[in-house]
Amino acid sequence: MSVSIPYSLPSITDLEQQYAADAAQFGWGARCYEYIDRFEELFARYSGAEHAIATSSCTGAIHMGLVSAGVGKGDEVILGDTNWVASAAPITYVGAKPVFVDIDESSFCLDPRRVEAAITARTKAIMAVHLYGNLCDMDALQDISERYGIPIIEDAAEAIGSSFKGSIAGSIGLFGTFSFHGTKTVTCGEGGMLITNDSRIASSVRTLNNHGRASGAHRAFWPETIGYKYKMSNIQAAIGCAQMERIDDLVSRKREILAYYKAALIEYPQIKLNPEPEHTVNGAWMPTVVFDKELPLNLEKIIDAFHQQKIDARVVFWPLSTTGLFTDTKAENKIAAITQKRAINLPSYHDMTNSEQDRVVDVIRTLLAS
Ligand SMILES: *Cc1c(COP(=O)(O)O)cnc(C)c1O
Repeated sequence: MSVSIPYSLPSITDLEQQYAADAAQFGWGARCYEYIDRFEELFARYSGAEHAIATSSCTGAIHMGLVSAGVGKGDEVILGDTNWVASAAPITYVGAKPVFVDIDESSFCLDPRRVEAAITARTKAIMAVHLYGNLCDMDALQDISERYGIPIIEDAAEAIGSSFKGSIAGSIGLFGTFSFHGTKTVTCGEGGMLITNDSRIASSVRTLNNHGRASGAHRAFWPETIGYKYKMSNIQAAIGCAQMERIDDLVSRKREILAYYKAALIEYPQIKLNPEPEHTVNGAWMPTVVFDKELPLNLEKIIDAFHQQKIDARVVFWPLSTTGLFTDTKAENKIAAITQKRAINLPSYHDMTNSEQDRVVDVIRTLLAS
């Protein structure tokens, strides 16, 4: 029997091991911020953003970004219903309410027409989450943002390597956030980053990130405000530095894997994979197949077929409005609901072989023939 195919694994080379070992041996005392500073610099340069602040998670970065953008009690933040809970949870941390709107069928990202219809006097931000590497329709969202005077914030945790009209995903809104969890294209084990061109947001996040101590403050142990502790450690940042030196390879390998699936399945109009509209680049974090709703398939059957071949394919995110965790949302988001039952994430780790990809393709072919 063939060996199992995991759904994701990081790409760790000698460079990551070397930097991590160096940080573990020497990165203390006066040198305890060296890799963190370097990681932030590398990330700012890559993203084109003026400020990059490393955090212990993307969730923490979103939390501090929301506080810094003035989102608080009673406010509303609009986001797509199909999302990982980490995008929505920080909205509740600040006492605001996530408002879930239906998604665009092809990108899985929030549908701008639904966004506009959901705006109220309490709407404080529109959260553009670029799901699976697919980009939100930033032209339409920016138009809404300007007409209503409501900022866009970007959760680009899944969109490293994606860009919209030449701008890196995450660098377009008031601030953007990234995750370096072990499943993401770039990893530190755990970790996150907030980028922004707004110096007021940057300085607020830096302060909140370090127990409310202002950076450059001359009085030791003096908090300016009640902050948080979402800083990244130097050892995590060391791994991040190695990954950022390899970023172009990491992203192009992800894109290659998606392209291979697309080419192998090109003769099947009954399925769709991640879109890449004109003027955009899809970083291809997670190749995702959507099966046409006319096909005689259901989610159990699809998952079963993969598991029988020892392939760890995963369901896409549940519509968050259906989890019961966000009680006062009465969303009825049909496309989010249908998509959850018809779509599946395919394995896409960097070191995957062509013959492993062929095994995944064979399962899809068999399903389509059934
Ligand atoms: C992974 C992910 C997060 C959470 O990142 P953490 O670093 O685990 O906090 C948030 N949003 C999206 C879209 C993600 O994919």
